[in-house]
Amino acid sequence: MVDFHQARWNEPLIFELSIPGTIGHSIPPVESDIRQAIGSIDSIIPAGLRRDSAPQLPDVPEQQVVRHYTRLSQMNYAVSLGTYPLGSCTMKYNPLIDESLAQMPGFAWLHPSQDPKTAQGALELMWELEQWIAEITGMDAVTLQPSAGAHGEFTGVMLIREYHRQVTKEWTDRHEMLIPDAAHGTNPASATMAGYRVVVVPSNDEGLVDLDALKEAAGPRTAGLMLTNPNTIGVFEKNIEEITGIVHDAGGLVYYDGANLNAIMGIVRPGDMGFDVVHVNLHKTFSTPHGGGGPGAGPVGVKKDLEEFLPVPRIVRGENGFFDLDYDRPKSIGKVHSFYGNFGVLLRAYAYIYALGGAGLKRSSELAVLNANYVAHHIKQLKGFSLPCSQDDPRMHECVISASELKESTGVTAMNVAKRLLDFGIHAPTIYFPLIVEEALMIEPTESESKRELDLFIAAMKQVSEEAHSNPDIVKHAPTNTALRLLDEYKAAHPSTLTLSWRMYRQKQQSAE
Ligand SMILES: *Cc1c(COP(=O)(O)O)cnc(C)c1O
Repeated sequence: MVDFHQARWNEPLIFELSIPGTIGHSIPPVESDIRQAIGSIDSIIPAGLRRDSAPQLPDVPEQQVVRHYTRLSQMNYAVSLGTYPLGSCTMKYNPLIDESLAQMPGFAWLHPSQDPKTAQGALELMWELEQWIAEITGMDAVTLQPSAGAHGEFTGVMLIREYHRQVTKEWTDRHEMLIPDAAHGTNPASATMAGYRVVVVPSNDEGLVDLDALKEAAGPRTAGLMLTNPNTIGVFEKNIEEITGIVHDAGGLVYYDGANLNAIMGIVRPGDMGFDVVHVNLHKTFSTPHGGGGPGAGPVGVKKDLEEFLPVPRIVRGENGFFDLDYDRPKSIGKVHSFYGNFGVLLRAYAYIYALGGAGLKRSSELAVLNANYVAHHIKQLKGFSLPCSQDDPRMHECVISASELKESTGVTAMNVAKRLLDFGIHAPTIYFPLIVEEALMIEPTESESKRELDLFIAAMKQVSEEAHSNPDIVKHAPTNTALRLLDEYKAAHPSTLTLSWRMYRQKQQSAE
């Protein structure tokens, strides 16, 4: 096993390092002719936007700032340090070249308010990316605006609502959204935000959509069904055409949660499975690093019938070959994002797809599936772990392992296992999701992990299984090799114990005095 020890700095807060009057950076004085040209600060910044006092920033020299943040980063974990098998999240290593392309000044310094005539390259790039996502998903038209998966879902559900409002004219009767019980939590949240009542469709023993229950649930009140396929167990819904057929026959539309497209690119397309709307997460599958709430993109693709409802502006190519923005779409649901979305994320996706091409995307899906099955195959044989649901079916981009036998025989839970993995320099998998599996460990290795890394992960799981049986306390008290040891889960998540800002910290200190 790797001998892993995370750095453990007793690092103060940056505010505590502050010595008033210390200068971290010297800005050259503004030359007098420039100063004259811009006039006084008072004349260029409106009164309402001016501060009375300087912002409360710490006074720290540059070198100390750099060391402070480097130390903090050493106490953190990242995909550039090791395996990050967080199921349903696709935390894969992304090619660095896509980062440098996103930083090219011609793109990075574009201003979204620029005249489209001066941003033809960016518009063409987005226009082409729309076509590529349409091709990959089997849809007719795509919007790039939504900034996350959940935002894409919300946009997609709004499109379904608009369809029922303007086309079937049944939107007041069709107020139910069907969602399987294994769905990602954002699905019911998005449907509820769009005004729908969520009707939960149970899974059968195999972890697939229960067709009888679906038939019973679908009817004149159904606006649509939101489905993830491959589902959260990591299995491809066998009866997918029957599922989309049942909902269509009932008059509803079918939404495909394509947050995790890793298993199917170039192999099968939601559009061909009968789906009407799909979103994909560019920050999972298409090369934008994510986690921590950074910018993302959740483009939405639709079939022809829904195209006129897509958000404005639409990127259009005129007869003269010039690209422009079309706001004149009277049936559109309106805007869902400022300007056109998170351009830097779109740029990375463009670079990624361009570099891989059709054959490369397909290959990466094949490898993602191979890796998930390799891991599932080895881990299900370890004492205490099992592969519940559809045992004989292959896994797609991820696998869900249950630690319920381990818990029963040793008292070691999925949570303990996840924390012990940190001691080996491996990020914990997703745990306790999907809810239909007890003591779930949801593992998504992704295509970017090598066999060597997968073998290390499997070896770590083997050691955890052995420890759980021989000396369960080791596992229960883990992690010990990390910057912070075992945390109190309740305190680590509860607002009353969290101190989220310097100001809050000061207030707490003052009220304690
Ligand atoms: C990640 C994920 C989402 C949500 O995407 P965000 O960008 O985090 O909003 C939705 N559905 C599934 C299946 C996901 O894995």
